[in-house]
Amino acid sequence: MLRCQICGKPAERHHIVYKSQGGVDFPLNFKYLCPEHHRGEYGPHKNRKLDLKYKLEMQHKLEKLLYKKFYTLDELITLLQINKGMLKKLLKDCKLYKEGYKSFDVIYRLMGRKIYTESMMEEYYDFIANF
Ligand SMILES: [Zn+2]
Ligand SMILES: [Zn+2]
Repeated sequence: MLRCQICGKPAERHHIVYKSQGGVDFPLNFKYLCPEHHRGEYGPHKNRKLDLKYKLEMQHKLEKLLYKKFYTLDELITLLQINKGMLKKLLKDCKLYKEGYKSFDVIYRLMGRKIYTESMMEEYYDFIANF
């Protein structure tokens, strides 16, 4: 049985980049959370700061994993443990260079056509401080 990564209770699978945000199924996009740590008050669906934190963590993992400038489709499939058809669909409008796909393009699409920055967390704090 899958366990919550925070408290160890039985868990459900959370998509760090939601499917509605363009997130896809592959291990780095999954976080296992119990109902409380998932949908509860302090879970990522209710807590914007935590949601951003998980997304930044995921993006950093991707940046570490894809440290070269280019990767071929086969390399990406192995590294990301992602379904080939899904990856092809995700990258269909990306330029394919002779060395492969640009890591930046791949990360950008896996993050739901977004690049997250630390400053987004600060903006959140500013917003809270005004209340
Ligand atoms: Zn939990
Ligand atoms: Zn979720």
